[in-house]
Amino acid sequence: MKRPISKVRRTVQLLSFLLLVYGGVLFKKQFTVSWLPYVKATPGFRVAERLPHLITPPEQAGVFDFFLPIRSSPFARNTGLFRGCFLYFLSENITYLTPLGQFLPHVVFYIICVFLLGMLWCGWICPLGYLQDCLAMLRRALHIPQLRVSELWQKSFHIFAYVQLGLILIVALLIAFPVFSWESRKQLFNLNSQLNPGDYIFPYITGFNHSPIEIAVTNPLSLILKITMIVFLLFLLASFFVKVSYCRICPLGALNGFFNRGGGISIEKEVSKCTCCGSCYLTCPMQFKHIYLEKEKRNVDRTFCIRCFRCVDICPESGCLKVKFFKYKLFQSG
Ligand code: SF4
Ligand code: SF4
Ligand code: SF4
Repeated sequence: MKRPISKVRRTVQLLSFLLLVYGGVLFKKQFTVSWLPYVKATPGFRVAERLPHLITPPEQAGVFDFFLPIRSSPFARNTGLFRGCFLYFLSENITYLTPLGQFLPHVVFYIICVFLLGMLWCGWICPLGYLQDCLAMLRRALHIPQLRVSELWQKSFHIFAYVQLGLILIVALLIAFPVFSWESRKQLFNLNSQLNPGDYIFPYITGFNHSPIEIAVTNPLSLILKITMIVFLLFLLASFFVKVSYCRICPLGALNGFFNRGGGISIEKEVSKCTCCGSCYLTCPMQFKHIYLEKEKRNVDRTFCIRCFRCVDICPESGCLKVKFFKYKLFQSG
């Protein structure tokens, strides 16, 4: 069966993966972007003394020092094109209490990115999303059937993604002040990276043997953090059986998803053309049923829809599903 959109998507994903994970090796020069201020730790906040193994060495700075709505890693060797993901930026700079003048332009840049493309960043660009797709492709090649999770689990995962997002941001703020002991603050520093499997995997696959997972277990808190890291890593590996399993609990996905409705990209259904065949549900990596179940709804956008457009690719009815950029049609099913 022809799947033209999926073929283009795979190519974009592969190129993005290479550039985002290995781009720093290709582009030695670092470009400064004058309209986005370079943000560094506020003087006096001696992070290096707190958690030297979580510090991005200066030579590891990305080619472009700004942050995209994707789960990349600042700990990869030579970092790649961009220095880490936006949630890394957000949580670190909350901890640093970075002045608003430096902080806000990056937030505005992120909002513009996700307003225009929503979770298309996830389905097409994010290297961690691509890794999960590769695991699913491997499973298909081995003729192992995929597993699906129940609706209840699916909802729980999404709630867990929001809980994680809240926790990362609250902890990032709290450790800026002496609320916890010094030792706990050290261990909770950059909780985002400690919960991001990309920050364990990308350093290793780029030959930079230095990642949060190496945190030594010295007390109950560090033990809990280490176990949590291993669980998140297993969640990512579970995408071999359950498509994009980590994306279902990803805190950055939860943040990006806020912009999936009312932004530039939308999916529309021509209800009169839908035959309720269910193909869109069977192919959807996020297991969304609503496209074929909601018979009267034209707008089928959902938070957590990673904009892979597999549903559009597979729908047999010509013009039944349409992808739009604002009011302009980009492509359609059939
Ligand atoms: S939801 Fe998935 S694709 Fe999106 S940022 Fe998270 S890991 Fe990447
Ligand atoms: S694949 Fe197309 S025709 Fe089939 S249920 Fe989904 S939207 Fe309707
Ligand atoms: S609804 Fe369509 S675009 Fe969204 S995740 Fe499912 S298959 Fe992909």
